[in-house]
Amino acid sequence: MNVGVLAIQGGFAEHRKALHLVGVSSFEIRKLSDLQQSLDALILPGGESTVIGHLLHETQLFSPLKTMIDNDLPVWGTCAGMILLARTIEDEQKSYFGKIPITVKRNAFGRQLGSFHMTGTCPGIGKIPMTFIRAPFIKDAEKEVQILSSVNGYGVAATYRNVLVTSFHPELTDDLQVLKYFLQRSQKNTRKVMR
Ligand code: GLN
Repeated sequence: MNVGVLAIQGGFAEHRKALHLVGVSSFEIRKLSDLQQSLDALILPGGESTVIGHLLHETQLFSPLKTMIDNDLPVWGTCAGMILLARTIEDEQKSYFGKIPITVKRNAFGRQLGSFHMTGTCPGIGKIPMTFIRAPFIKDAEKEVQILSSVNGYGVAATYRNVLVTSFHPELTDDLQVLKYFLQRSQKNTRKVMR
């Protein structure tokens, strides 16, 4: 299995480190020619969604990645990555890949520090440490979306078809459960595509 990690801004190095720890090969996607390698799954890291969105167009990576995501390549977006995958962003006109039918609110957990840590649970994954950094939450979701975990009544982890999104950053903790869950889902999905 080979996982492509979008590496134009934000916390991509931490995702690659976690992938290395679970023995899965990965590579950085920075420019169009990086997509000559085949990938079984894609990770969109945290960072600043507006900056990543802008750079996706500048590097011309946007449309080939959108085609892959639309064609059900397994994808996991953390924090800014969740915003990039959401169909609607509250108070904004535009969206990016728009694959998961949710409305997200950016910088949703308060204005002061905006960062905090807690322990939460996700069905099918278990108890997990959750690190939030100026994180979005899910304000609305269509019924096909499975909300895995909520904080203060708002979704912070969800799945839909090939998509996994988390408001928090498992890659900034030592806990590899969410990554393993994503890889398992991706393997199932790859088998389905091959059949
Ligand atoms: N606040 C950032 C945004 O709106 C996301 C923060 C993060 O990825 N840690 O894009």
